[in-house]
Amino acid sequence: MAFHIYNTLTRKKELFEPVEPNKVKMYLCGPTVYDFFHIGNARPLIMFDVLRRYLRYRGFDVRYVVNITDIDDKIINKAIAQNRTASEVATEFTRAYFQDIDKLGIERPDLSPRATDFMRDIINTIQQLIDRGFAYELDGDVYYEVEKFVGYGKLSGKNINELQAGARVDVDDRKRSPMDFAVWKSSKPGEPWWESPWGKGRPGWHIECSVMSSKLLGGTFDIHAGGVDLIFPHHENEIAQAEGASDCPFVHYWMHNGFLNIEGEKMSKSLGNFFTTREILAKYPAEVLRMFFLLKHYRSPINFSEERILESQQALERIVETLKNIDLILADFQDVGAATDETIANQKAALIDAMDDDFNTASAMGTLFELVKSANLIIAENNFTKENIVTLKAIRELLVDVNEFFGIIPDKSSGTFGTDESFYLDMLTEIRRELRDARQWGMADTIRDRLQSIGIELEDRKDKSIWKRNFNKK
Ligand code: AMP
Ligand code: ZN
Repeated sequence: MAFHIYNTLTRKKELFEPVEPNKVKMYLCGPTVYDFFHIGNARPLIMFDVLRRYLRYRGFDVRYVVNITDIDDKIINKAIAQNRTASEVATEFTRAYFQDIDKLGIERPDLSPRATDFMRDIINTIQQLIDRGFAYELDGDVYYEVEKFVGYGKLSGKNINELQAGARVDVDDRKRSPMDFAVWKSSKPGEPWWESPWGKGRPGWHIECSVMSSKLLGGTFDIHAGGVDLIFPHHENEIAQAEGASDCPFVHYWMHNGFLNIEGEKMSKSLGNFFTTREILAKYPAEVLRMFFLLKHYRSPINFSEERILESQQALERIVETLKNIDLILADFQDVGAATDETIANQKAALIDAMDDDFNTASAMGTLFELVKSANLIIAENNFTKENIVTLKAIRELLVDVNEFFGIIPDKSSGTFGTDESFYLDMLTEIRRELRDARQWGMADTIRDRLQSIGIELEDRKDKSIWKRNFNKK
């Protein structure tokens, strides 16, 4: 199967065909840097990082841009409240954003443009919109005239009459229509400003994404992503601006992730029902949070609960432990040759098919767990026939291979994962081995029995002992 994605624009799953063969140009709406981001915001950052890696894994040359909104009402309000400049606030939280994405194991985007670095291009595009009749100036502000853009509503499926009725609530007599939105805002006293043909001011939020994405990815690019809440008005407005200012289609595929909810409500800063990524990372390894998201399809809503996080942790531990046990076993069976395992090859094809089917990580994870289960069965039965060793080797290769895009198996050297349980279990196993070798049976047996009572089995080999989790008992 070739890669297919659900396109919000056409409301269908479509075959993915990039503008340029083998290249993918992809843009994600990034953070507004006025605070630490919460784990709801982490969802698109993690999922589209995995998509980017997956597309690379599938042989595409991916150019990935995630913008940074470093001028906005929220930043200005925070700066006023803290008696600082907007730029100080933005700099502080831009740094925090990079620290957090690094900790989450998210690869840095190829480009992370800041709105304030694109002021010239933004002003030029606004001027183009005015010249082409899509925008008009009003007392130092510039508005986009929604009715002038024939395709307005095509992404969100809203029609102009409906929108007009809805927009009446927000009456601003000066605008030609209540639906019109600001692309340039004149500065109020004390606010940051940039010189423009319409006086001192700053850009609206929507225009920065149209300008930076078009500028950095070319006239028409492949994938534009963000959370579902951005479909309207943000992405609808991005299309109106980009296509109003040029003659080419803006984006081919629009992808939107579902919400992370908490007690049935969207996790959000304004509702106060959020956990920052930092809070979660203080308690759980990054790989657990990645796993938590990967276990669900990116378009489905997810309910946050600590139990779900713990379940994700257990699921991940199972994979990591299996890998470790396979490694220990394979160390004793060096010469398995180059035999291939057809069943595992088929399961790998099924996993890739799931990923190709609108990036179904949940289903791909299902296949991964089946593989882990087969490996554990062989290990639990100590059934190390040549055939089974080939199978274990194939499973190991597969896990390592798909980790290229999932990014869930921690780097052994990083010590970010397994520092708790696995670390102590390794240590106890070693201590018991020494006791046993020193014929101190009493203490050695006590350790073995106590571990057994919590579902950990020890197995004594020729020159070492290993521990295994007994999943049937636990
Ligand atoms: P914001 O800071 O609200 O502009 O959000 C930044 C990104 O996070 C956008 O792509 C939002 O759609 C996304 N986002 C915000 N809240 C959530 C949530 N609770 N679940 C999933 N995505 C979210
Ligand atoms: Zn955007």
